[in-house]
Amino acid sequence: MSDLIKRAERFARERHAGQFRKGAAQEPYTVHLEEVANLTERWGGGENAIAAAWLHDTVEDCPPISSADLASLFGDEIASIVAELTDDKSLPKAERKRKQVENAPHKSNDASLVKLADKTSNVGAIGKSPPADWSLERRLAYISWADEVVERLPFAPKEGLDEFYKRYDIAELDTYDDLGTIRQGENAGLRVIERRAKRLGASDEKIRQIMLGFMEGAFQK
Ligand code: ZN
Repeated sequence: MSDLIKRAERFARERHAGQFRKGAAQEPYTVHLEEVANLTERWGGGENAIAAAWLHDTVEDCPPISSADLASLFGDEIASIVAELTDDKSLPKAERKRKQVENAPHKSNDASLVKLADKTSNVGAIGKSPPADWSLERRLAYISWADEVVERLPFAPKEGLDEFYKRYDIAELDTYDDLGTIRQGENAGLRVIERRAKRLGASDEKIRQIMLGFMEGAFQK
């Protein structure tokens, strides 16, 4: 691991010390940073992207750290990637979420990659350890918003998208399993199969046949 990445990791661990994830498991926040950095590296990210992955939430969540602080410690390039990944906290939450969708297509490659890793980690957390007080609707709205951002990113390696959508499917199924009815769970299962078939390149006709086959099978039960 390069010195730069080591320094970024150490800095992020110090700044986020004592913070926890929103999920019921109350994981230390650094578990999320470690995951985002690992995914960024696995999907081909270079030194700057991996360092930015460690630092991606420091300006947003660790005041008074500013973009200028990061620039003086880690250089302009890394500070600028982190700035691309930092929401303007003076805006209302709904507006911030809308802006993430709107700004996604304009991200640099490095910011795109870290964003994909961040959303993959967050959607995975909704499957594994959702916040205890989130309703079914809230969990579903969250993963579908994450998908809206991800599908607009200009740079997203296939391996990363595959992992994001795998976790998306699991999060949707787990949400219905925890909070929905059996019928909703079954429908979600069918949607997952349909989406997978589409992603694997199946034609509309093929997908229609598969879905019909399932439904006939269900009626024969
Ligand atoms: Zn994050």
